[in-house]
Amino acid sequence: MESDEELAAIPEAMIAKDESGMKFENGRCAALTGEVGKHVGCAVYLVRPHVCRTCMPGDEECKIARAEFGFPIDGLPEPEIYEA
Ligand code: SF4
Repeated sequence: MESDEELAAIPEAMIAKDESGMKFENGRCAALTGEVGKHVGCAVYLVRPHVCRTCMPGDEECKIARAEFGFPIDGLPEPEIYEA
């Protein structure tokens, strides 16, 4: 769970109304910039939620998300280990 200070650092407009997490619009996080499959970024990268910090390229969550969009999951890098 994020601390009150961590939550306060995320722009309110990008947080779900029920404060359960990030706001989702059109099937994607409100903080996601760019075009999926081409180049994307996180508008709140430095203050992103903990759950986002644990997701690493090549890990299981990454593979699930890629598969959902029909992107290949073979040949991904070995995920780095997240340390809080
Ligand atoms: S890292 Fe988290 S906050 Fe940033 S765009 Fe992705 S889901 Fe949204």
